[in-house]
Amino acid sequence: MPEEYVGVRYISTCLGSMRDGVELYNIQNQQRSIINLIQSIPHHYFQNNSGNVSYRIESTNYFVITGTAINLQIIDNINEFAIVTSIQDEVVRYYGDILPSSETPLHGKIYLRFPDINWIVHTHPPINLLNQLSIPSSEKYLPYGTFEVGEMVTNLLNDNHSVVLKDHGLVSVGRTDNEVLRYLSSLLIF
Ligand SMILES: [Zn+2]
Repeated sequence: MPEEYVGVRYISTCLGSMRDGVELYNIQNQQRSIINLIQSIPHHYFQNNSGNVSYRIESTNYFVITGTAINLQIIDNINEFAIVTSIQDEVVRYYGDILPSSETPLHGKIYLRFPDINWIVHTHPPINLLNQLSIPSSEKYLPYGTFEVGEMVTNLLNDNHSVVLKDHGLVSVGRTDNEVLRYLSSLLIF
C-alpha cells in the first residue's frame, strides 16, 4: 500500500459495547461463521494488520465487521469485531469495544446498494499479482477509508463479484460465505 495508515477517516458514534450489540441483534450463534471464513483465507493476504471482512445481519442493513488495527491472521474473538447500524450522513454508528474497520464506509455503501450481498472480504494481495487480475479496477490509487472509495467500488461492482482498488487491494462480495470464498479462490492462490 503506497499510503501510510493514519487511522479511521470517518466520524463515529458508539451506541454501546459489543456485548450489548450481540444481545440486541441476537447474533450469538453466528459468531463462528465469520471467524471461520477469515481463517479459511491464506493469512498473507491480511499481512501487516490489513484487510477487513463483514457480513450482513439477516434482513437488515446492519453488519458485523472486523475492528480497526486487528490482526486478522490470528483473530478468534467476537470482541475484535463491531456491529455497524448506520452510515447515514457519513457518520458511522456502531456497537463495539473497538472502532469498526477504517473501510466501514465502503462496506456500508455496498450493503445499501446491493440487497442480495451478505458478505464482503477486502484483502491485500501482492501489488504485482493484484494489478494483473482481469477484473474491473479503479483507474488510479484512491485514499483508503473514504466514502468516495465506497461510491467508486459500488459503481464498478454491478454484475461483478470482485473489484481491484489499484495499487491497494481487492474487494470481493457474495450472497453467502462459501460464495465469496469461491470467488476469492478463483482469483488468488489458495
Ligand atoms: Zn485496504
